[in-house]
Amino acid sequence: MRKILVTGALGQIGSELTVALRRRYGADQIIASDIRMPRKAGDVPGAPGEAAPGPIELIDCTQPHQLHEVVRRHDIGVIYHLAALLSAVAEEKPQIAWSLNMGGLYNVMEVARQYGCAVFFPSSIGAFGPGTPRDQTPQETIQRPSTMYGVTKVAGELLCDYYALRFDVDARGLRLPGLISYTAPPGGGTTDYAVEIFRHAIRYGRYTCFLRADTRLDMMYMPDAVRAMIELMEADPAGLLHRNAFNITAMNFTPAELADAIAARMPGFEIDYEVDDDRQAIADSWPRTLDDSAARAEWGWRPEFDIAAMCDDMLEKMREAANIARAS
Ligand code: NAD
Repeated sequence: MRKILVTGALGQIGSELTVALRRRYGADQIIASDIRMPRKAGDVPGAPGEAAPGPIELIDCTQPHQLHEVVRRHDIGVIYHLAALLSAVAEEKPQIAWSLNMGGLYNVMEVARQYGCAVFFPSSIGAFGPGTPRDQTPQETIQRPSTMYGVTKVAGELLCDYYALRFDVDARGLRLPGLISYTAPPGGGTTDYAVEIFRHAIRYGRYTCFLRADTRLDMMYMPDAVRAMIELMEADPAGLLHRNAFNITAMNFTPAELADAIAARMPGFEIDYEVDDDRQAIADSWPRTLDDSAARAEWGWRPEFDIAAMCDDMLEKMREAANIARAS
């Protein structure tokens, strides 16, 4: 088997995807990479003491020769390309976002073309915009995003389609909703509140939310997202009509509804709101709910976690982690 490369592997998704891939295919088969090295052992899959240790390489995706060198040396056959600036950070630094999100993807597609690699590209609900129907957003619809993040996600989807059509690169991808997880902190997205709220609930019993109480967005628990990425890359290409940029979702809620779900499990938990206009404007330009019927029909996508199951698991895992930290 040719090996698998994960770029941006120390981020919120990469820290869990890399471990899942190592468990599935064997630790030595998976090459984690990032522009930075882990600070301490617990920070990263592949570090000593982790459940699924394995090789890690330093790759800045804006530097094509670094990608080429690692892909050639390790005989890489699949690239999960996660390195990117997320929505809120990309609005603060649009020039860097273009350079990394577009330049990095272009470099990955070129290396994939030359070495015959398959590519996974994570698009986002940010690939839609204010002109998109916001409820049950269809698989194929208007995509005129008003953020640099969204511009790079739509263009990224198109670049994947182009390399598949023109050069036969097996480029597949998902439009992911906001992701909720406890392993690595979120990287500066508009849906980060749905992760922060759990940490604040456990530490302080209260949370000040930067989105309005009634902001409805699609969300997914990380174990479902990781499984979706692996299932899509393993899917029989004969069944894939779209192949790339599949809408997927697992649940949708507002900050007020999430706070109620947490309060039902942690009596006394309180939420208040100090709206960040910039992130609110981004959220208001995104769909409220996605139609993921194409993913369900073409490769059998089914989420396992709804809001109740996600809250139970998040609180259990975060309390365990807090107890371990207190005991050590
Ligand atoms: P993250 O910000 O947590 O991690 C990104 C990683 O990329 C970081 O470890 C960072 O060090 C690394 N990186 C930064 N610059 C780099 C460079 N020049 N070269 C190589 N690595 C570099 O992001 P994430 O949440 O893990 O998201 C991964 C991908 O999934 C992104 O494309 C993101 O747009 C997409 N996505 C994420 C979410 C979400 O809710 N987390 C939702 C939809 C889509």
